[in-house]
Amino acid sequence: MIDYHMHLENGPLTMDYLQQFWQQAKRRGLSEIGVTEHTHKFSQFRCTFDHLFQPDVGYRYMKDWLSNDFQQDIEEYLALLHKARQGGVPVKVGIEVDYFPEQQSVIASLLDQYSFDFVLGSVHVIGQWGFDLSPEWGWEDHDVDTAYKLYYETLLKAAQSGLFDIMSHLDVIKVFGHRPSGPMDKYVIPVLEAIRDQGMAIEISTAGLRKPVGEMYPEERILGQARSYHIPITFSSDAHAPEDVGYRWEDAVLMAWRCGYREYRVFQDRKSWAEKLPKMG
Ligand SMILES: [Zn+2]
Ligand SMILES: [Zn+2]
Repeated sequence: MIDYHMHLENGPLTMDYLQQFWQQAKRRGLSEIGVTEHTHKFSQFRCTFDHLFQPDVGYRYMKDWLSNDFQQDIEEYLALLHKARQGGVPVKVGIEVDYFPEQQSVIASLLDQYSFDFVLGSVHVIGQWGFDLSPEWGWEDHDVDTAYKLYYETLLKAAQSGLFDIMSHLDVIKVFGHRPSGPMDKYVIPVLEAIRDQGMAIEISTAGLRKPVGEMYPEERILGQARSYHIPITFSSDAHAPEDVGYRWEDAVLMAWRCGYREYRVFQDRKSWAEKLPKMG
């Protein structure tokens, strides 16, 4: 089993810290990890956030959040992961890309400059609003149905961009428990169609179980829809600390079985192949 989504950002970029993630993965019975640092950690990706540093950005906290980032060198990050792999740690080299429609070509040319095993595509920002930072920030300015609509419209562009291998936390807009007034199928289905058309996978993320919403990303109904489109899956804890690696992966596998999945995907050099889902219970 795999955990293809975790962050080293709360510790140093050292072998010792990376080993803590791998040791926890082993304890939980995993055989491979994928490390996926956020693009906003790397100085090289600062330009993909330029539009959020403009004077007209209304959300002060967005600037405060970003002003402390972009401190790391992606070359050092990649070197650490390659060194770990040479030392026998089964780690895949990933990155979690903040997608912004207005920066698509800038993101594309940067991704071309580095090698990854897989690239996660994520939407955390709608326009200039980072909706997953706090249940207060920005939510008071947005009607919930509109927030969902805008989120899925941005996610659709991310899927259509062809830049990513795996779409992260598909329905993360629910993170704080804000619920739309009715089904969002008319926005979700085009996203799933685009993911299928681009040959991408989605992740089942247990991170939502640790958030106010208290459920997986995506919810089971959407995972069932993804299955009907033959969209492959990976598994993700989105751990930001070693102890969360592999968090409740068994529950994610059970949900995959219930939705009709029998396989998941592993990635290398941005190619993937199927492995059998483990039998549970
Ligand atoms: Zn994310
Ligand atoms: Zn993440």
